[in-house]
Amino acid sequence: MIKKYYDSDCNLGMLDGKTVAIIGYGSQGHAHAQNLKESGVKVVVGLRKSSASWAKAQEAGLNVMEVEDAAKAADIVMMLVPDEVSADIYNKQVAPYMEEGNVLCYAHGFNIHFGLVKPAANIDVIMIAPKGPGHTVRSQYLEGKGVPSLIAIYQDFSGKAKDIALAYASGIGAGRAGILETTFREETETDLFGEQAVLCGGVTELMKAGFETLVGAGYAPEMAYFETIHEMKLIVDLINQGGFGYMRYSISNTAEYGDYRTGRRLITDATRKEMKQILREIQDGTFASEFVQEFSAGRKAKFLATRRMESEHQLEKVGAELRQMMSWLKK
Ligand code: NAD
Ligand code: MG
Ligand code: MG
Repeated sequence: MIKKYYDSDCNLGMLDGKTVAIIGYGSQGHAHAQNLKESGVKVVVGLRKSSASWAKAQEAGLNVMEVEDAAKAADIVMMLVPDEVSADIYNKQVAPYMEEGNVLCYAHGFNIHFGLVKPAANIDVIMIAPKGPGHTVRSQYLEGKGVPSLIAIYQDFSGKAKDIALAYASGIGAGRAGILETTFREETETDLFGEQAVLCGGVTELMKAGFETLVGAGYAPEMAYFETIHEMKLIVDLINQGGFGYMRYSISNTAEYGDYRTGRRLITDATRKEMKQILREIQDGTFASEFVQEFSAGRKAKFLATRRMESEHQLEKVGAELRQMMSWLKK
């Protein structure tokens, strides 16, 4: 089990007199910037002049500047731009302004762990990664609460890297919920595995296979959509709330009996073996180099073609029609 830290273990004073540059103002960026500022930390936001976020950050009362200027102004730089452009931005627009003893921060370990960024030896490199989307990091903070977050230390030049990570985590509100220490390797590999094998790749193919099985057997696509896709949220919300036990307590005995009878026929030894292979391809860098190659120089050929093909699947058309009937869904 991982040791957990709370606000009482954190010294926000570690950030006194320091300037934190938040590079990027998207999901995570807006939450980190505003929470830190309201925690009394001096914050600047680094963006491109052309960015639509520039005005938004200014409206929030933040000091916005070009990425290079933010990097120059900062003692601590947090990279909150998309992972596929992050290394390029760091190497060209941030690294030249990193001074001895400065701190480089990430909310995901990809670029450091896979060596796309090779930080100078005379800086600290740390991670502060909230386990929730940015809007929750912000809304929880405003309610006086926080989102549990990970911290990790990749490089501790100053000897204070962990205290700085704890202070930053506390500044975004994480110390109210709990801070867990991990490593760049563990965070990166488990994050990629989770999204590929279970959360995104696993779940969407499972739903699609269920949908196609029912439609292929002559059932109405609307019925197939309800039963194999729409209702997933209900089940996942129950698991999220109280684990498998609470979910199974809430569903009918018929559903629970079917759950026990059938799950293992789908997730077979072959599936588990393939999961191990997927994990190996993450660990040995196969996935990372494939991803970087696909996204380099605008060559998103496979990615965009697959996105288009997926969008044309019958389940997306049926789903769009049915969701029109659900007034509670945000447009
Ligand atoms: P995002 O796509 O929501 O926001 C990216 C921001 O970067 C935008 O403000 C965009 O304008 C800016 N940007 C893009 N290109 C830029 C450029 N060339 N120069 C300057 N700014 C540029 O990204 P996000 O989801 O907040 O992810 C940021 C980091 O946080 C990633 O490392 C991600 O893995 C990590 N993370 C995200 C979440 C999440 O819930 N979204 C959770 C944990 C960790
Ligand atoms: Mg991820
Ligand atoms: Mg049902």
